[in-house]
Amino acid sequence: MLDLSGLPVVDNHVHPWRASTSHVDQDQLAGSVAFSDGVIASVREPFLPSEQLAPSLKLFRDTNLGVQYLLVHLARFLDVEPDWSVVTRARNARAEAGYAAWTARLFHDAGLDTLCVDEGGATPRITLEELGAIAPIRLLRVARSDNFIRDLLPAENAWPTFFRRYQEELDAAIRDGAIAFKSVIAYRSGLDVEPVSEAAARRDFEAHRHATPREQKVFRDFLLCHTLDVARERGVWLHIHAAVGDPDIVYERANPARLYPLLHSPRFRANRVVLIHGGWPWVGEAAAMAAILPNVYLDVSEGALFGMPNVRQRLMETLEACPYAKILYGADGSLPEALWIGATRFKHALAQVLAHLTDEGFCSPDQARDAARLILHDNAVRLYGLSQA
Ligand SMILES: [Zn+2]
Repeated sequence: MLDLSGLPVVDNHVHPWRASTSHVDQDQLAGSVAFSDGVIASVREPFLPSEQLAPSLKLFRDTNLGVQYLLVHLARFLDVEPDWSVVTRARNARAEAGYAAWTARLFHDAGLDTLCVDEGGATPRITLEELGAIAPIRLLRVARSDNFIRDLLPAENAWPTFFRRYQEELDAAIRDGAIAFKSVIAYRSGLDVEPVSEAAARRDFEAHRHATPREQKVFRDFLLCHTLDVARERGVWLHIHAAVGDPDIVYERANPARLYPLLHSPRFRANRVVLIHGGWPWVGEAAAMAAILPNVYLDVSEGALFGMPNVRQRLMETLEACPYAKILYGADGSLPEALWIGATRFKHALAQVLAHLTDEGFCSPDQARDAARLILHDNAVRLYGLSQA
């Protein structure tokens, strides 16, 4: 059996958390790996009244195998009974005594040495300085371009100044050291992005500035294409959410295959793009795109955390045609325990998959270990030009 526990890990996709999470309740802790909690935790508009949701969310947490897995492993790590109230009390005692030290212990155990931080939708934005105070680890900024649109829309009613200020925000993020822009256009108007003229974008902006994001497709498409141009010219990556997600998602246009015409087009084929969440649950389609398009890479987050029981099968699917030099580990966690359990589980599943493929003659034990090192760490180091931490 391959032992990957000592290998270092870059988590390619995390969201920042606040210092106030040194104290959490047991629903928050369990919910940090429960996809069903997304209906309350990450939607922009309430999906259903919380009093209506609470009983079913409790049932969903209690019957989620990933939640059980976190409970068992965290109890063992804390050396307490596998009971949520006991585990939560013990976890809060450690975190409140020194959140950075507790987090460092978890990260050391999982081998985590670097996090790519998608700032998410939190307002005010949680900066890397703020996160760094409680997460002693190398942090890299991934700047959410949709947040620039969100913040500028109420402030600017004329297209020329709106677009100029959007460009200034992109510049400022690059100056600030961002390694990538992140687009969640799959949550706004869908992945079927089409290049349009600035005149068309301006007309759409004037007609739909106050409308829903779905109705703003033309100018949002224009801005994403512009962002891709800037990213390509300035050597910055584009991280694009290509997967399902919480109920805000434009589900019918979230399949990564919708992006193919754009990423294949002569204008954008030199852009360096990571499909965040590996297309989950359309993993095979995302892996095929990464196999076909030379500058498209695959991040396995979201499924790696919210689909922990099934990591092996998805890994097999990504490895069927996609070179392992193009696969990046990520979890999509936003609490230290979630990052820890995601990396721990993934290492275990990756070891099983690679041992199986070694037995079948696809690689030698040394090559299997090299593949693991690339997926867990060295691909990210190469892509983003990092020093070996
Ligand atoms: Zn995410």
